[in-house]
Amino acid sequence: MFELLKTDAHTKARLGRLTTAHGVVETPVFMPVGTQASVKALDPRELLEMGTQIILGNTYHLNIRPGLDIIRAAGGLHRFMNWEKPILTDSGGFQVFSLAKIRKIKTHGVEFRSHLDGSPLFLGPKEAMEIQRTLGSDIAMAFDECPPHDAPAKEQRLAVERTIRWAGECREQPRAEGQLVFGIVQGGSNAALREECAKALVPMEFDGYAIGGVSVGEPEPEMMKAVELTEPFLPAHKARYAMGLGTPAQMVELIARGVDMFDCVLPTRIARNGTAITRRGAFGLKGAAYKADFRPIEAGCECFACKLFTRAYLRHLLKANEILGLRMVSVHNSHMYLKLMADVRAAIAAGNFAEFHREFIASYTPSQKILSARKTANDER
Ligand SMILES: [Zn+2]
Repeated sequence: MFELLKTDAHTKARLGRLTTAHGVVETPVFMPVGTQASVKALDPRELLEMGTQIILGNTYHLNIRPGLDIIRAAGGLHRFMNWEKPILTDSGGFQVFSLAKIRKIKTHGVEFRSHLDGSPLFLGPKEAMEIQRTLGSDIAMAFDECPPHDAPAKEQRLAVERTIRWAGECREQPRAEGQLVFGIVQGGSNAALREECAKALVPMEFDGYAIGGVSVGEPEPEMMKAVELTEPFLPAHKARYAMGLGTPAQMVELIARGVDMFDCVLPTRIARNGTAITRRGAFGLKGAAYKADFRPIEAGCECFACKLFTRAYLRHLLKANEILGLRMVSVHNSHMYLKLMADVRAAIAAGNFAEFHREFIASYTPSQKILSARKTANDER
């Protein structure tokens, strides 16, 4: 299922190929987020055109709305949203612990109320796997508990214990045909907990492993640490996925630390407030400086927003609240993420990723605005 094609000689970067029921995914890969069966503002044709290999869907959101009956009647999530390529579904664990109103953690899952209408619901390993089986995703995620990054040590420990127990239960549930299942390693920035969680999950022989509990509001060094504490315990021949990440610079840094897969709402979310991401950093297109700037968002970018429109025109659209403006910035930002991953893969293949990494980080200026937007970005996932 996962083929490790090459490991970089100077960093931990990996080139891989993940085979799923709906096609092959070349890694490292960025997965655009389609929480509610739609990558916000983009249609499947545009996603394919910009080189999207796999997208995300969400168990929690889709189970509440439109509900499984509708998706079952449509013939699964791929058909419902007319997306023929692979889909990874999040288990809903993150949303239950971050979005749901009231909750009671039980042995086999969580009692909570819908964030939409307050109706009582229950989600645990059995339910999460059943929903993902009905959605028919290519990759299902195990149901885990993701505590806040500043949770006390006792809570982190309990979350790891539940995550391990629930992973075992997920492993026993029936799957959709050809469906892969990934386990999720929790443990915050506690080295012993990360190791314990990884060592308990690896013998369960999941098809891939995610590093969870990152991008939940923690400072960036803590996020890097959580990945560094987990990665050594993950098997080399399985895909590694850092959930909910990140900025372009964070993805490049984490690829150098051995991560293969990423998902983030950032490119589409910040597009909707008029922020464009380039290889040098992000900037707000609504700024007065762009009023008569007739250059594209990013020189050399091959997305159709950059081919067709100027900053001045896009700024005007954003100022006038025209939908086209939001769509075009979403096109550019998503394209930027996908092209960055394609360039990373080419660099690893050519044996010059270390140089690519150094140059990228040197020319990229992190934006505080973006880093703070990331804190809440996972709610949308
Ligand atoms: Zn562009």
